[in-house]
Amino acid sequence: MTDRPNMPGALKPAASLSRELDSENRESASLGPSLKEPRTAAPLAPGLYLVATPIGNLGDITLRALDVLRGADRIACEDTRHTQKLLNHFQIATPTLSCHEHNEHQRTEELISALKSGGRIALVSDAGTPGISDPGGRMVKAAIAAGVPVIPIPGANAALSALVASGLSAAAFQFLGFLPEKAGARRTRLEALVREQLEEPRTLIFYEAPHRIEEALADLEAVWGPELRVVLARELTKLHEEFLRGTVAEVRHELAGRERIRGEITLLIEAPARSAQPPEEQARKREALSARLARLQSESGIDEKEALKRLARELGKSKSELYRELQRERAQRR
Ligand code: SAM
Repeated sequence: MTDRPNMPGALKPAASLSRELDSENRESASLGPSLKEPRTAAPLAPGLYLVATPIGNLGDITLRALDVLRGADRIACEDTRHTQKLLNHFQIATPTLSCHEHNEHQRTEELISALKSGGRIALVSDAGTPGISDPGGRMVKAAIAAGVPVIPIPGANAALSALVASGLSAAAFQFLGFLPEKAGARRTRLEALVREQLEEPRTLIFYEAPHRIEEALADLEAVWGPELRVVLARELTKLHEEFLRGTVAEVRHELAGRERIRGEITLLIEAPARSAQPPEEQARKREALSARLARLQSESGIDEKEALKRLARELGKSKSELYRELQRERAQRR
């Protein structure tokens, strides 16, 4: 472990800090001197700083984040115009440069060379923690490979904020980012998740766009059933922050009654353990679509077209979507 005496919020060498943590005075040691004493303008240690920024409420910026943004040579931003508003608000004049998914490759080379010569670079995304469904991963890998210190500056993150207030278990959870945009790919992804179910229940966390949330919920209901517990966390930390908690059927019903769904959404579900499903339900889910269609046809004496229509209704899918899935399944079996 290396000491970084110049890092804000960690002004003491690591050895003396750990001695303090062992003493009775844990709370004041962990707060660090910066909350109790005037902040010093000590220069930052060289390295790549991953700085979390607010996900809506500017009050969520941390003191350390402000120090790092002030003290860095440059701030690499997902969108410089967006970050400039934050910097203006806190009167930070550090120069910015863009670093997004389209130029990350070229920027990485440039910034790694600056870091290797002792530079201090802060990396921010538009909101929240960089690298979480946001650019940053490539730069981190390159910095580690170049032997450059990588320093996280923790702060806001939509997934964890939603999780801790959701009421769902945080003992075992999985963050899965955005679901695929296309209906077929999304359904395939969710079906794969059902197959991956563990022996223990776990909370799954997704990011979702407001214009796709109703489709995503319909898919979740079709795959896991109407009793699936979900929590929709909307506009976290903002004026219209909202949590919708209930079964997927209830949350869908609530949203269907709204004129428009706006804002940023994090969606959580309580994925049941495999063993929690009744055996007949497990068998039904494993049953191939073609077999279900054939069974429906023979039980009801209807043709394939009609059976497809009924099954689509039962699963909450469109006929064409179900047809595409059937084709995929048949192709896999060939
Ligand atoms: N890096 C960010 C983080 O640490 O949370 C996430 C960036 S990702 C591109 C943006 C997505 O995060 C949004 O589409 C939404 O799903 C979720 N999100 C961001 N801010 C949110 C908020 N205030 N409330 C709920 N979800 C939010």
